[in-house]
Amino acid sequence: MIALGTPELWFFCGSQHLYGLEALEQVRQNAGVVAKGLNDSSPVQIVFKGLLTTPEEITAALLEANSSADCAGVILWMHTFSPSKMWIRGLSNLKKPLCHLHTQFNRDLPWESIDMDFMNLNQAAHGDREAGFMHTRMRLERKVIVGHWTDPEVLERLNAWARAAWAWHDLQGARFARFGDNMRNVAVTEGDKVSAEMRFGFAVNGFGVGDLVAVVNAVTDSSINDLLEEYEQLYEIAPELQKTGSRHDSLRYSARLELGIKNFLEAGHFKGFTTTFEDLHGLEQLPGMAVQRLMAQGYGFAGEGDWKTSVLLRAMQVMGQGLTGGTSFMEDYTYHLEPNNHLVLGAHMLEISPSIAADKPRLEIHPLGIGGKADPVRMVFHARAGHALNASLVDMGNRFRLVVNQVKSITPPALPKLPVARAVWQCLPDFKTACAAWIYAGGAHHTGYSDCVTAEMLEDFAAMAGIEMLLIDEKTTSLREFKAELRYNDLIYAISQGLRA
Ligand code: MN
Repeated sequence: MIALGTPELWFFCGSQHLYGLEALEQVRQNAGVVAKGLNDSSPVQIVFKGLLTTPEEITAALLEANSSADCAGVILWMHTFSPSKMWIRGLSNLKKPLCHLHTQFNRDLPWESIDMDFMNLNQAAHGDREAGFMHTRMRLERKVIVGHWTDPEVLERLNAWARAAWAWHDLQGARFARFGDNMRNVAVTEGDKVSAEMRFGFAVNGFGVGDLVAVVNAVTDSSINDLLEEYEQLYEIAPELQKTGSRHDSLRYSARLELGIKNFLEAGHFKGFTTTFEDLHGLEQLPGMAVQRLMAQGYGFAGEGDWKTSVLLRAMQVMGQGLTGGTSFMEDYTYHLEPNNHLVLGAHMLEISPSIAADKPRLEIHPLGIGGKADPVRMVFHARAGHALNASLVDMGNRFRLVVNQVKSITPPALPKLPVARAVWQCLPDFKTACAAWIYAGGAHHTGYSDCVTAEMLEDFAAMAGIEMLLIDEKTTSLREFKAELRYNDLIYAISQGLRA
């Protein structure tokens, strides 16, 4: 994936000077073993950064975590009792995502041999409660994970958090480019870019499409030839687009678009972008296949100037890095409303990432009803069947909201007259409840669709950002309760965020 960093998660163990140096040394060694054990199955490197036993050590360590460009988050565990007033100053300053692992070095109690030394050493049961009180007292956002550090379920919880922290770290200082503005008069794709930068740490800025055209036109024929060879390896190509075909020049231009946009994004260190069909002056085609290919390389993207979805897509791509599956820009397009078999057909006119394709994509060229440009080349495929989700980031005016719906993708019937990439899914818990909840929540028609990112990762990510996440899944059975949650959140987030939104 482009511009993917390899940050670390810093593991700290809390204790105090009450038990003697020998006991502290044992605590330090045990903490190192735990950190190494966690690291062995973590997608992000977990590093044991020390035993903290005084307010000075705690403050220095957490300030170092804040200022380190490598630190994506902090994991805390109290092996013994660590009086929490010692943590106030350090935690007050901590700006990195926080995970509280409530574990114990020994899995089983040694019933026959347990003595007061064992009791002294294995005190997480109350040490972590003291820590938890202070975290709650300070209203700190964190993830609490409970269980033995070798328990697969604990590792799964931790890995979801690690992936969210990775995505969060990736967004800090990230740049996103918009070619043109928002699609005229569309509301949900608009938003407050100043608020977004304050809350999420990324910057979105606009560029005239003419700046892009200059870079696209400067792409060399030889680099286009190289890219066409790659296309031949990876895709099935419609006869008219092949080298001997009558419309081969259109495929060459699509390759030019891909290389030009990529050159522009690389030169400006961008992690994502948006386009709009209302502003394509100087481009011969609306970028279709070019965008599909760039998404698969890890660039965030959304159409019609929708920068929030572009950013969300990048974050989801980082969360899903290395997992089986893919992530794409998506739009709820059209419905199948057969009783007992309600389905959503998701697509965009063109821009769906081949990372979710069930089979080898086919390159085709067809007219497009919008944009007023030459026929665009696109990859045609359908998405893999199986569990997936759609996520939407909306701007509520005083805050951001993440809406997530679990879905089940199916293999659609043949669609001989629909030459675009698409996904067809059933909504959970059911179509009517899911769509009503989504619409009550103000979820957008643009989403990030993924069959590898989980709702837990997104929930952890939302917590890191300090925004609400509304999950619509098999447990969402009461719209009355869902609407109540919306009303509570309006109040809670208004109070918790105060005037700084
Ligand atoms: Mn759209």
